[in-house]
Amino acid sequence: MNHICKKYTIRGIVQGVGFRPFVYMLAIKHALKGSVENTGSGVIVYAQGAARALDAFESALHSEAPPLSRIDGIDTQNVTCKAYTDFEIIESSLTCKSTAISPDSAICDDCLEELRNPKDRRNGYFLINCTNCGPRYSIIDTLPYDRPNTSMRDFEMCATCKEEYTNPAERRYHAQPISCHDCGPKMVIEGAKNLEQVAYCLKEGGIVALKGIGGFHLMCDATNENAVARLRERKNRPKKPLAVMFKDYAAAEKNVTCNALEQALLESKERPIVLVHQSAQSTIAKNVAPGIECLGVMLAYTPLHYLLFERFEGALVATSANVSDEPIYRSKTQIFEHLGGVADCVVDVEREIFNAVDDSLVQVTRGAIQMLRMGRGFAPLSLPLGFTPQGHFLRGACKQNILAVGAQQKNTMALAFGDTLILSPHIGDLSSVEAFEFFERTLKTFKRLYDFEPDLVVCDKHPDYMTSQWARAQNLPLLEIQHHHAHVLACMFEHALDETVLAFAFDGTGYGLDGTIWGGEVLVCEGADFERIGYLSPLRLLGGEKAVKEPRRVALSLLFECFEPDKMPELPLLKTFADGEIEVLYKAWQKGLNAPLTSSMGRLFDGVASLMDTLHVSTYEGQSGLMLEARCHNAKAAPFRFKIDEGVLDTPMIVRDIVDAIIAGKSAEVPDRFINTLVSVMDAYSAWYPKLPIVLGGGVFQNKTLLSRTLAHFESLKRRCYVQSHTPVNDGAIALGQVVYGLKFSI
Ligand code: ZN
Ligand code: ZN
Ligand code: FE
Repeated sequence: MNHICKKYTIRGIVQGVGFRPFVYMLAIKHALKGSVENTGSGVIVYAQGAARALDAFESALHSEAPPLSRIDGIDTQNVTCKAYTDFEIIESSLTCKSTAISPDSAICDDCLEELRNPKDRRNGYFLINCTNCGPRYSIIDTLPYDRPNTSMRDFEMCATCKEEYTNPAERRYHAQPISCHDCGPKMVIEGAKNLEQVAYCLKEGGIVALKGIGGFHLMCDATNENAVARLRERKNRPKKPLAVMFKDYAAAEKNVTCNALEQALLESKERPIVLVHQSAQSTIAKNVAPGIECLGVMLAYTPLHYLLFERFEGALVATSANVSDEPIYRSKTQIFEHLGGVADCVVDVEREIFNAVDDSLVQVTRGAIQMLRMGRGFAPLSLPLGFTPQGHFLRGACKQNILAVGAQQKNTMALAFGDTLILSPHIGDLSSVEAFEFFERTLKTFKRLYDFEPDLVVCDKHPDYMTSQWARAQNLPLLEIQHHHAHVLACMFEHALDETVLAFAFDGTGYGLDGTIWGGEVLVCEGADFERIGYLSPLRLLGGEKAVKEPRRVALSLLFECFEPDKMPELPLLKTFADGEIEVLYKAWQKGLNAPLTSSMGRLFDGVASLMDTLHVSTYEGQSGLMLEARCHNAKAAPFRFKIDEGVLDTPMIVRDIVDAIIAGKSAEVPDRFINTLVSVMDAYSAWYPKLPIVLGGGVFQNKTLLSRTLAHFESLKRRCYVQSHTPVNDGAIALGQVVYGLKFSI
């Protein structure tokens, strides 16, 4: 028979995910000879055999690849045949560090079956995992991904585990976190004797800190209003919605309604928190997500979660263990230091978390996933340049190592080197010392993982962002990019847009080129440049930062724009101010004292929510948008009148109509009409540039109602309209936009 030999170079997430044994088993099945090896440039396979067998082998490489792998490309070459005697896995020591790291994964079905099987030797083993599931990024100290470089290095495998680890036919071949009851890390419970007692504590309304994959959760019975109230009080988190964990989809379904994609996301190996509709018959306590319609839901994802749910039937609040907006705690020491007395029991596992990573948060808008926080399961996101989640954009390798340091809130960082781009997991709001330490630790991790040293740093133009100040102090070549331009570039990257676009950047806050605070911007972006062709007429933030937390101050400022102080309409928000306060604020408004100008769309939402008497003081970011959304029902509601003058949208004109509607007792119509007004406004701007594709960016587009009506509108006009899906539309992708900006100068 005529044999041929081929060399395949496979790139992507192909290491530490069982790719070599998969190739080995496949080669045996198709009677091929040759070898498979991990190298710095990917997995290299030599396969020799009949042409038809090779064809079958090749197509199975794609169609049957292991669950945690991702193939970004296969180079195929014909080579001369050799005298192979069999197919072998070549043990190699990786020296090059450009390999993509797999994010962490939920327990797989096979492991879950073994966990529950009384005859299996890992029955009830709280850290059961295999090549197809379990922790990855969270336990990696450095590359290559081998056990001595993970937090499992202190635990020596027993003989049976070792046998599984070294046998290519086993599901746990080279599964680095492999362990069992005999040889693995122990569970240490404080405040209870065993999991039964932990479950009892939860049933009695107690609070439990439990170690997950990327950090600790604080848990309590999600149907117990008192327990939830205590958790909120102890965590200093008065109103912000809390995520709820269910054992499985069947349990979740009793409380929420999901479409097919939402269900698929809930059950996916990434197991994110999915924002879904809470149903009328939900038994979840009202104070879990007060005043809003949706509920953040996730399903159990570690073996320990499943063991707990065997003892606790019901729903658990599962919120990151931290105080306010600090990073998630990853060690028991941190729990006792910062949350001493908060939890009645602490369930710790001796397997150390090297890299803390928060739960991911997603929602589904118009049939597409929308990433709100990229964490466990999705991050770090590594992409070969030239490949984006939606297509091709940047071709060729970058000549410099680029570090993008991200924004101040929802911070993430991004790296580009060689032909790789990496977006870090969510780091958080950098205003606390702890959070900035987390930023620095994450940078150290990536430097170590990838032997990365930046040649070029990209930061936001903001004078005071911690990241920008840090970047300026590095004594390295530096690029600064305007915040909303970065939002737009992130979206352009994801959709592989390499042309001039018209962009709506609707956001909370971003430092503008004129020194004011931007956030309701219409930009035309071309290459590495942009032009601001429109914006909301600026309003004064009474009390500066205070106005960001107090929608009533924004509403008052809007009223000052529209009415003389003695002709102010009698709205409830005025009564929330102390005697004389309004007069003082009016003077500040007139003189511009501690009242910076902003064109922010996020603030306009705040103002509308307060005018309507819906929210006067917010306790978490984005609250006004969520509360207005809960009051939207009519996609056809008539928009308010508006006027655009030399690119500037006259917001006071809209506000006057809103006030009229409220005074006429038609408050209930306002949210729908307000959102529809914004769609009409975008339509008006877009008519000036009928040929340009439209890009949407900024945190305001997390508003599902606004986003879906905007997309529907432009779809009806057959206009191309893009929004991010796999990367966050909020500040979590500022680093991505920044690194794309850097690449424009380095490719
Ligand atoms: Zn598994
Ligand atoms: Zn063992
Ligand atoms: Fe932003």
